[in-house]
Amino acid sequence: MIVIMKKGVKMDDVEHIRNTILSRYNIEVISRYGKIILRILDSVNEGFILKKLNNTYIVDKIIKNEAPYFLVTREFKSQDTFISIGDIVIGGKAPTVIAGPCAVEAHDQIKTIAYFLRNHGIRLLRGGAYKPRTSPYSFQGLEITGLKILRNIANELGMYVVTEAVDTDSFGYVEKYADIIQIGARNMQNFSLLKRAGRAKKPIILKRGFMSTIDEFLSAAEYIVFHGNPNVILCERGIRTYERLTRFTLDISAIPVLKELTHLPICVDPSHAAGKRSLVIPLARAAIAAGADGIMVEVHNDPDMALSDGKQSLTFEMFETLISQLYSGVSSYREKKIWTFMQPSFS
Ligand code: PEP
Ligand code: MN
Repeated sequence: MIVIMKKGVKMDDVEHIRNTILSRYNIEVISRYGKIILRILDSVNEGFILKKLNNTYIVDKIIKNEAPYFLVTREFKSQDTFISIGDIVIGGKAPTVIAGPCAVEAHDQIKTIAYFLRNHGIRLLRGGAYKPRTSPYSFQGLEITGLKILRNIANELGMYVVTEAVDTDSFGYVEKYADIIQIGARNMQNFSLLKRAGRAKKPIILKRGFMSTIDEFLSAAEYIVFHGNPNVILCERGIRTYERLTRFTLDISAIPVLKELTHLPICVDPSHAAGKRSLVIPLARAAIAAGADGIMVEVHNDPDMALSDGKQSLTFEMFETLISQLYSGVSSYREKKIWTFMQPSFS
């Protein structure tokens, strides 16, 4: 059973309840998003406890059957969660664009891409220094060297670094150099990594496992929040279906479903879903139209020579098309509350 206290309740009052009504039980007290929560770890005499607790003036809500997740739900926190990275807000009015290559390959490659992106107003630079690759013979990433390249160039250009942590051993290095730590689709249910992310002081972008349900996705986010980190961005990146003409199937319906269920911001990665660069722009438009708070796209200065995911990486020219379509459409949406960029005039 979970007892959620009203906002602003004092610890003394909580202690009082603990020492009286709940004195026979093992209790865990946690605080998230400004609310104190008591988790009763033993089975309880429900009728008795509910009556007593409901009679106090400090209890907001009681969740009887321990749900697999509740901290991330709108039931727990109805207002959207905004995540700030320096002067950038994710989940706010303006949609966020995170962009960069799949992998950090070399200093000059990142410099070229970062300059291009910065000149187009992009401040969140992505790039994997640790790459989870299907084959052990594929490029595995530059590791710490890659993290340093990202950090130095981002500092030079006033950008922020989004990069993946693939295991608990290297998590500390990623945490040191990144501004947002990515947990990839293949690691969405790596529970020791999720717990470590919960102890991190930086926001986490959690990608949906390609064989995971939305409930499993939210349960993974709950791990991170429960273990101490309230700043989680969810990222839909496509799920595996029988369709073979795309790399994965972008689950557009996950966006409104998640928006109903959770207060956390939602980004969409159209690149990994598509697997093919010609499909990325329409999928990105669809994601924003469906209510996503942002997109994460792969861009490369020479995609045909990229060491990973070149086929799905946008060229610079395509990226320019993408952001001009997104920004014109999105700003009209935000002002007029209609999705004008869905009209043909934007294509
Ligand atoms: C990536 O962002 O490059 C990546 C590996 O993504 P995913 O974990 O979604 O496959
Ligand atoms: Mn990739």
